[in-house]
Formats: sequence, structure tokens, C-alpha cells
Amino acid sequence: MTELAGMNPQELRAWCAENGLPAFRGKQLFQWIHRGADFDGMSNLPKPLREQLAQIAVAQPVRVAHEVRSQLDGTVKFLFSLTDGNCVEGVLMRYHHGCTLCISTQVGCRMGCAFCASTLNGCVRSLTAGEMLGQILCANRYLAAHATPDEEERFLRVHNVVLMGSGEPLDNYDNVMRFLRLLREEDGVNISLRNVSLSTCGLVPQMYSLAEEGLPVTLSVSLHAPNDALRRELMPIARTYSMEQVIAACRNYVEKTGRRVIFEYALTDEKNCEPRHAEELARRLRGLQCHVNLIPLNPVKERGLKGVTEEQVKAFLSVLEREHISATRRREMGDDIEGACGQLRRRYLEENRLP
Ligand code: SAH
Repeated sequence: MTELAGMNPQELRAWCAENGLPAFRGKQLFQWIHRGADFDGMSNLPKPLREQLAQIAVAQPVRVAHEVRSQLDGTVKFLFSLTDGNCVEGVLMRYHHGCTLCISTQVGCRMGCAFCASTLNGCVRSLTAGEMLGQILCANRYLAAHATPDEEERFLRVHNVVLMGSGEPLDNYDNVMRFLRLLREEDGVNISLRNVSLSTCGLVPQMYSLAEEGLPVTLSVSLHAPNDALRRELMPIARTYSMEQVIAACRNYVEKTGRRVIFEYALTDEKNCEPRHAEELARRLRGLQCHVNLIPLNPVKERGLKGVTEEQVKAFLSVLEREHISATRRREMGDDIEGACGQLRRRYLEENRLP
């Protein structure tokens, strides 16, 4: 079976030619796929052709296996199933400026961060570009199906995408680059790359490569510690690349793209949340065009790390402010539906409800 969702219009035209179809079918297929249609919904294709295509190709490689909607803020957590039976998570959030979807880039993750649920069973496989796009198409179908009659345009489809679900995007570099280029195709979902954030645990060589791609995505870097010793306790990748190397790669990204870098810092009690850690962090980041996003750790039961109190977050934030480091506390959404990385999938795996 050929997966068509990861192909760009030129590739789809070429695929049509190889399969004895006129080139204009390629354009039609591209438009239908990006609108979230399966072959049977492609109404301007003759029925026999639709049936023939369904025998040899997949239009929609992702389905919603399960969805949970937060009663608190309308956040929707999806469990997406892939054609081989694997599943990944995504989270759809409603902000005043429009809808944001957090997508996964791998089934599981091999980075081994001490606080993260996605990595507990390692990485099963990387997602294809079509499978990343497919998560957006599912969310768009959901939004269209649940819209009120007077819903504003910005809430009818996904406007912002964050690559912060399970997986390490830069460990799946080529597929992620292909996916990003698909997003900005005019005939497709047409999402500006300025509305896309890519989060990495800090794979330094790939951060340099990304800076050369000419793709104006926001780079988010998971720092979680103000020095190498502490970072190594939380993130195995810190044994390969030092903070100095990570920060140098960030500086290069800012220089090449003109875009500030976001640092993610998950606060966990008894580890990295003291005011002295905030002071050290401020020293390390001084002079860099950046913003710090503080995330109160979402405790994962298998991990044994503790969350922090509101006072601890405020104290940390006020040190950064005093040191003139731009910082905010990430708003928590979907608190009632297990919003943290990998938690929903994990529960399903445990209950054997899905493979
Ligand atoms: N692999 C990428 C993106 C996926 S995780 C990365 O490491 O950046 C997205 C963010 O959520 C990362 O900053 C990650 O460190 C953080 N995260 C993972 N588990 C968490 C938890 N239990 N509580 C708070 N943040 C968590």
C-alpha cells in the first residue's frame, strides 16, 4: 500500500503518471487528502477509480481511536491509531488566537528523559510525514464536526502546530522536514511555519542543520536544568552534548533565522527549582535572544519525581524577571484528562485496549 498523505503535489502527479492516471488527478488527490477525505469521499473522482485507488493506496493514514474532552477548558486529548496498529497521542487546545494542535513525531521515544512517560518503553518507530500531517487532518475533522453554527474561522481548523507530543522530532529529521514543507503548500492545510514550534531535547548537529533549512519555525529546547551535572541526571542526552554546545547551537539558530529560541524548563521539587538554580540559569542565558517557559512537572507515577507548588513556580519566575530574562509559566490545559506526554497512550497500553 502506498501512503499518499506524505507526498507533495509534484510527487502525487508523478505517482499518478506511474499508475496510468492523468496528472490533474494528482492535484485533486492532494486537495482531497489535505481536506481530510478518504477515497470514498472524493466526489469528483469516478467511483471505479476510487475503488481501484483504495486497493493500492492509503489516503488517511491516521484515525482517532479515542478522544477525551476536558470539562475545564475544552482541550481534547486524542489517541490516534496508525495503519500498523500502533498509536500515538495528540492534544488540541483552544487559545484566544485560534486552535493549537500538539502532535507526536515518533511512537515512543528513545531519549530516556527521567520525567517523561513517552520514553518508558523506548522508541517503537518514527512516524512518516503523512502520519504527522494525518494528526492535523483528524483534528480538523473533529473541529468541523463539533463546530457551533456561528463558530469563528480561527476555531474551525488547526492554526498552530507544536511538535511536542511523543518522540524527538530531530531524531526523525528527514520525515519532520518533509512534513514541515507539506504544511505550507497552498492547496493543503496551508499553515504558516511561523505558527509551528519544534521542541527538541537538544540534538546539537541537527539544530545546526535546521538553521540552514530556511524554515521559519520556532525552536524550543528542553533545558530543564541550569548546569550539566543536574541536566545529566534528568536527560541522558546531556551526556552527549554539553549545555554550552546546546546554547551555542541556539545562538546560531537565532543568528541564522532571526527568531528567538524558547527554553522549556520543567520544575521538579528537590531537583532544579531553587532560586539559586534560577540565578544560574539566568547567567547562562544572558545575552541570548530567548524566552523561558516554565512547566510545573506533571508527575508520572513510574518516575518518582515530584511536582512543585505554586509558590515555588512564582519564586523561580521572579528571580528570572529580576535578572531580565523573559519568562512565563506555561498555562496548564486539560488537567483533568492526563495532558502530559505519553500518559494516555500508556494507560491504554496497560489496559490492553489497543496494541
Ligand atoms: N522530544 C522533544 C519533544 C517532546 S516533549 C523534547 O524533548 O523537547 C515536550 C516537552 O514536554 C519537553 O520539554 C519535555 O521535556 C516535556 N515533558 C515531558 N514529560 C513531562 C512531564 N511529565 N512534565 C512536564 N514536562 C514534561
